[in-house]
Amino acid sequence: MPDCRIASRQPRGGPAEPRYITDPDRLRSFLEDAAHVPGGHAAALVMPTTEFEVAAVIEASAAVLPIGAQSSLTGGATPRGEVLLGMARCNR
Ligand SMILES: Cc1cc2nc3c(=O)[nH]c(=O)nc-3n(C[C@H](O)[C@H](O)[C@H](O)COP(=O)(O)OP(=O)(O)OC[C@H]3O[C@@H](n4cnc5c(N)ncnc54)[C@H](O)[C@@H]3O)c2cc1C
Repeated sequence: MPDCRIASRQPRGGPAEPRYITDPDRLRSFLEDAAHVPGGHAAALVMPTTEFEVAAVIEASAAVLPIGAQSSLTGGATPRGEVLLGMARCNR
């Protein structure tokens, strides 16, 4: 049997809490991807800058959709009620 191990550590960048954006005007531009499939909806948008914020959102949310440029041509990056985890600011 293979010897499998998972090493983990505390996420870096704490303890700043993530900011949940629920303003419909801010959410609107994230509700469809390049496929323009109608009906996209999201519980909130978070634009984390640290591992700590990413971990906090995943821990607190029933469903998360990480997004970059939402370039999917088949609706794969269209939200269906998840918390959107916009990764654009995780660039350092
Ligand atoms: C050939 C192909 C066929 C596919 N077919 C299907 C399909 O049939 N059905 C389906 O559901 N999905 C398909 N996918 C997957 C789908 O395209 C992706 O899941 C979706 O587009 C991902 O969207 P995203 O918003 O997560 O990321 P993306 O739209 O990929 O956005 C990522 C962004 O991050 C930027 N970036 C990358 N690295 C860095 C960095 N180090 N620092 C800063 N920015 C960075 C990129 O420039 C880009 O702007 C396919 C993908 C490919 C390539």
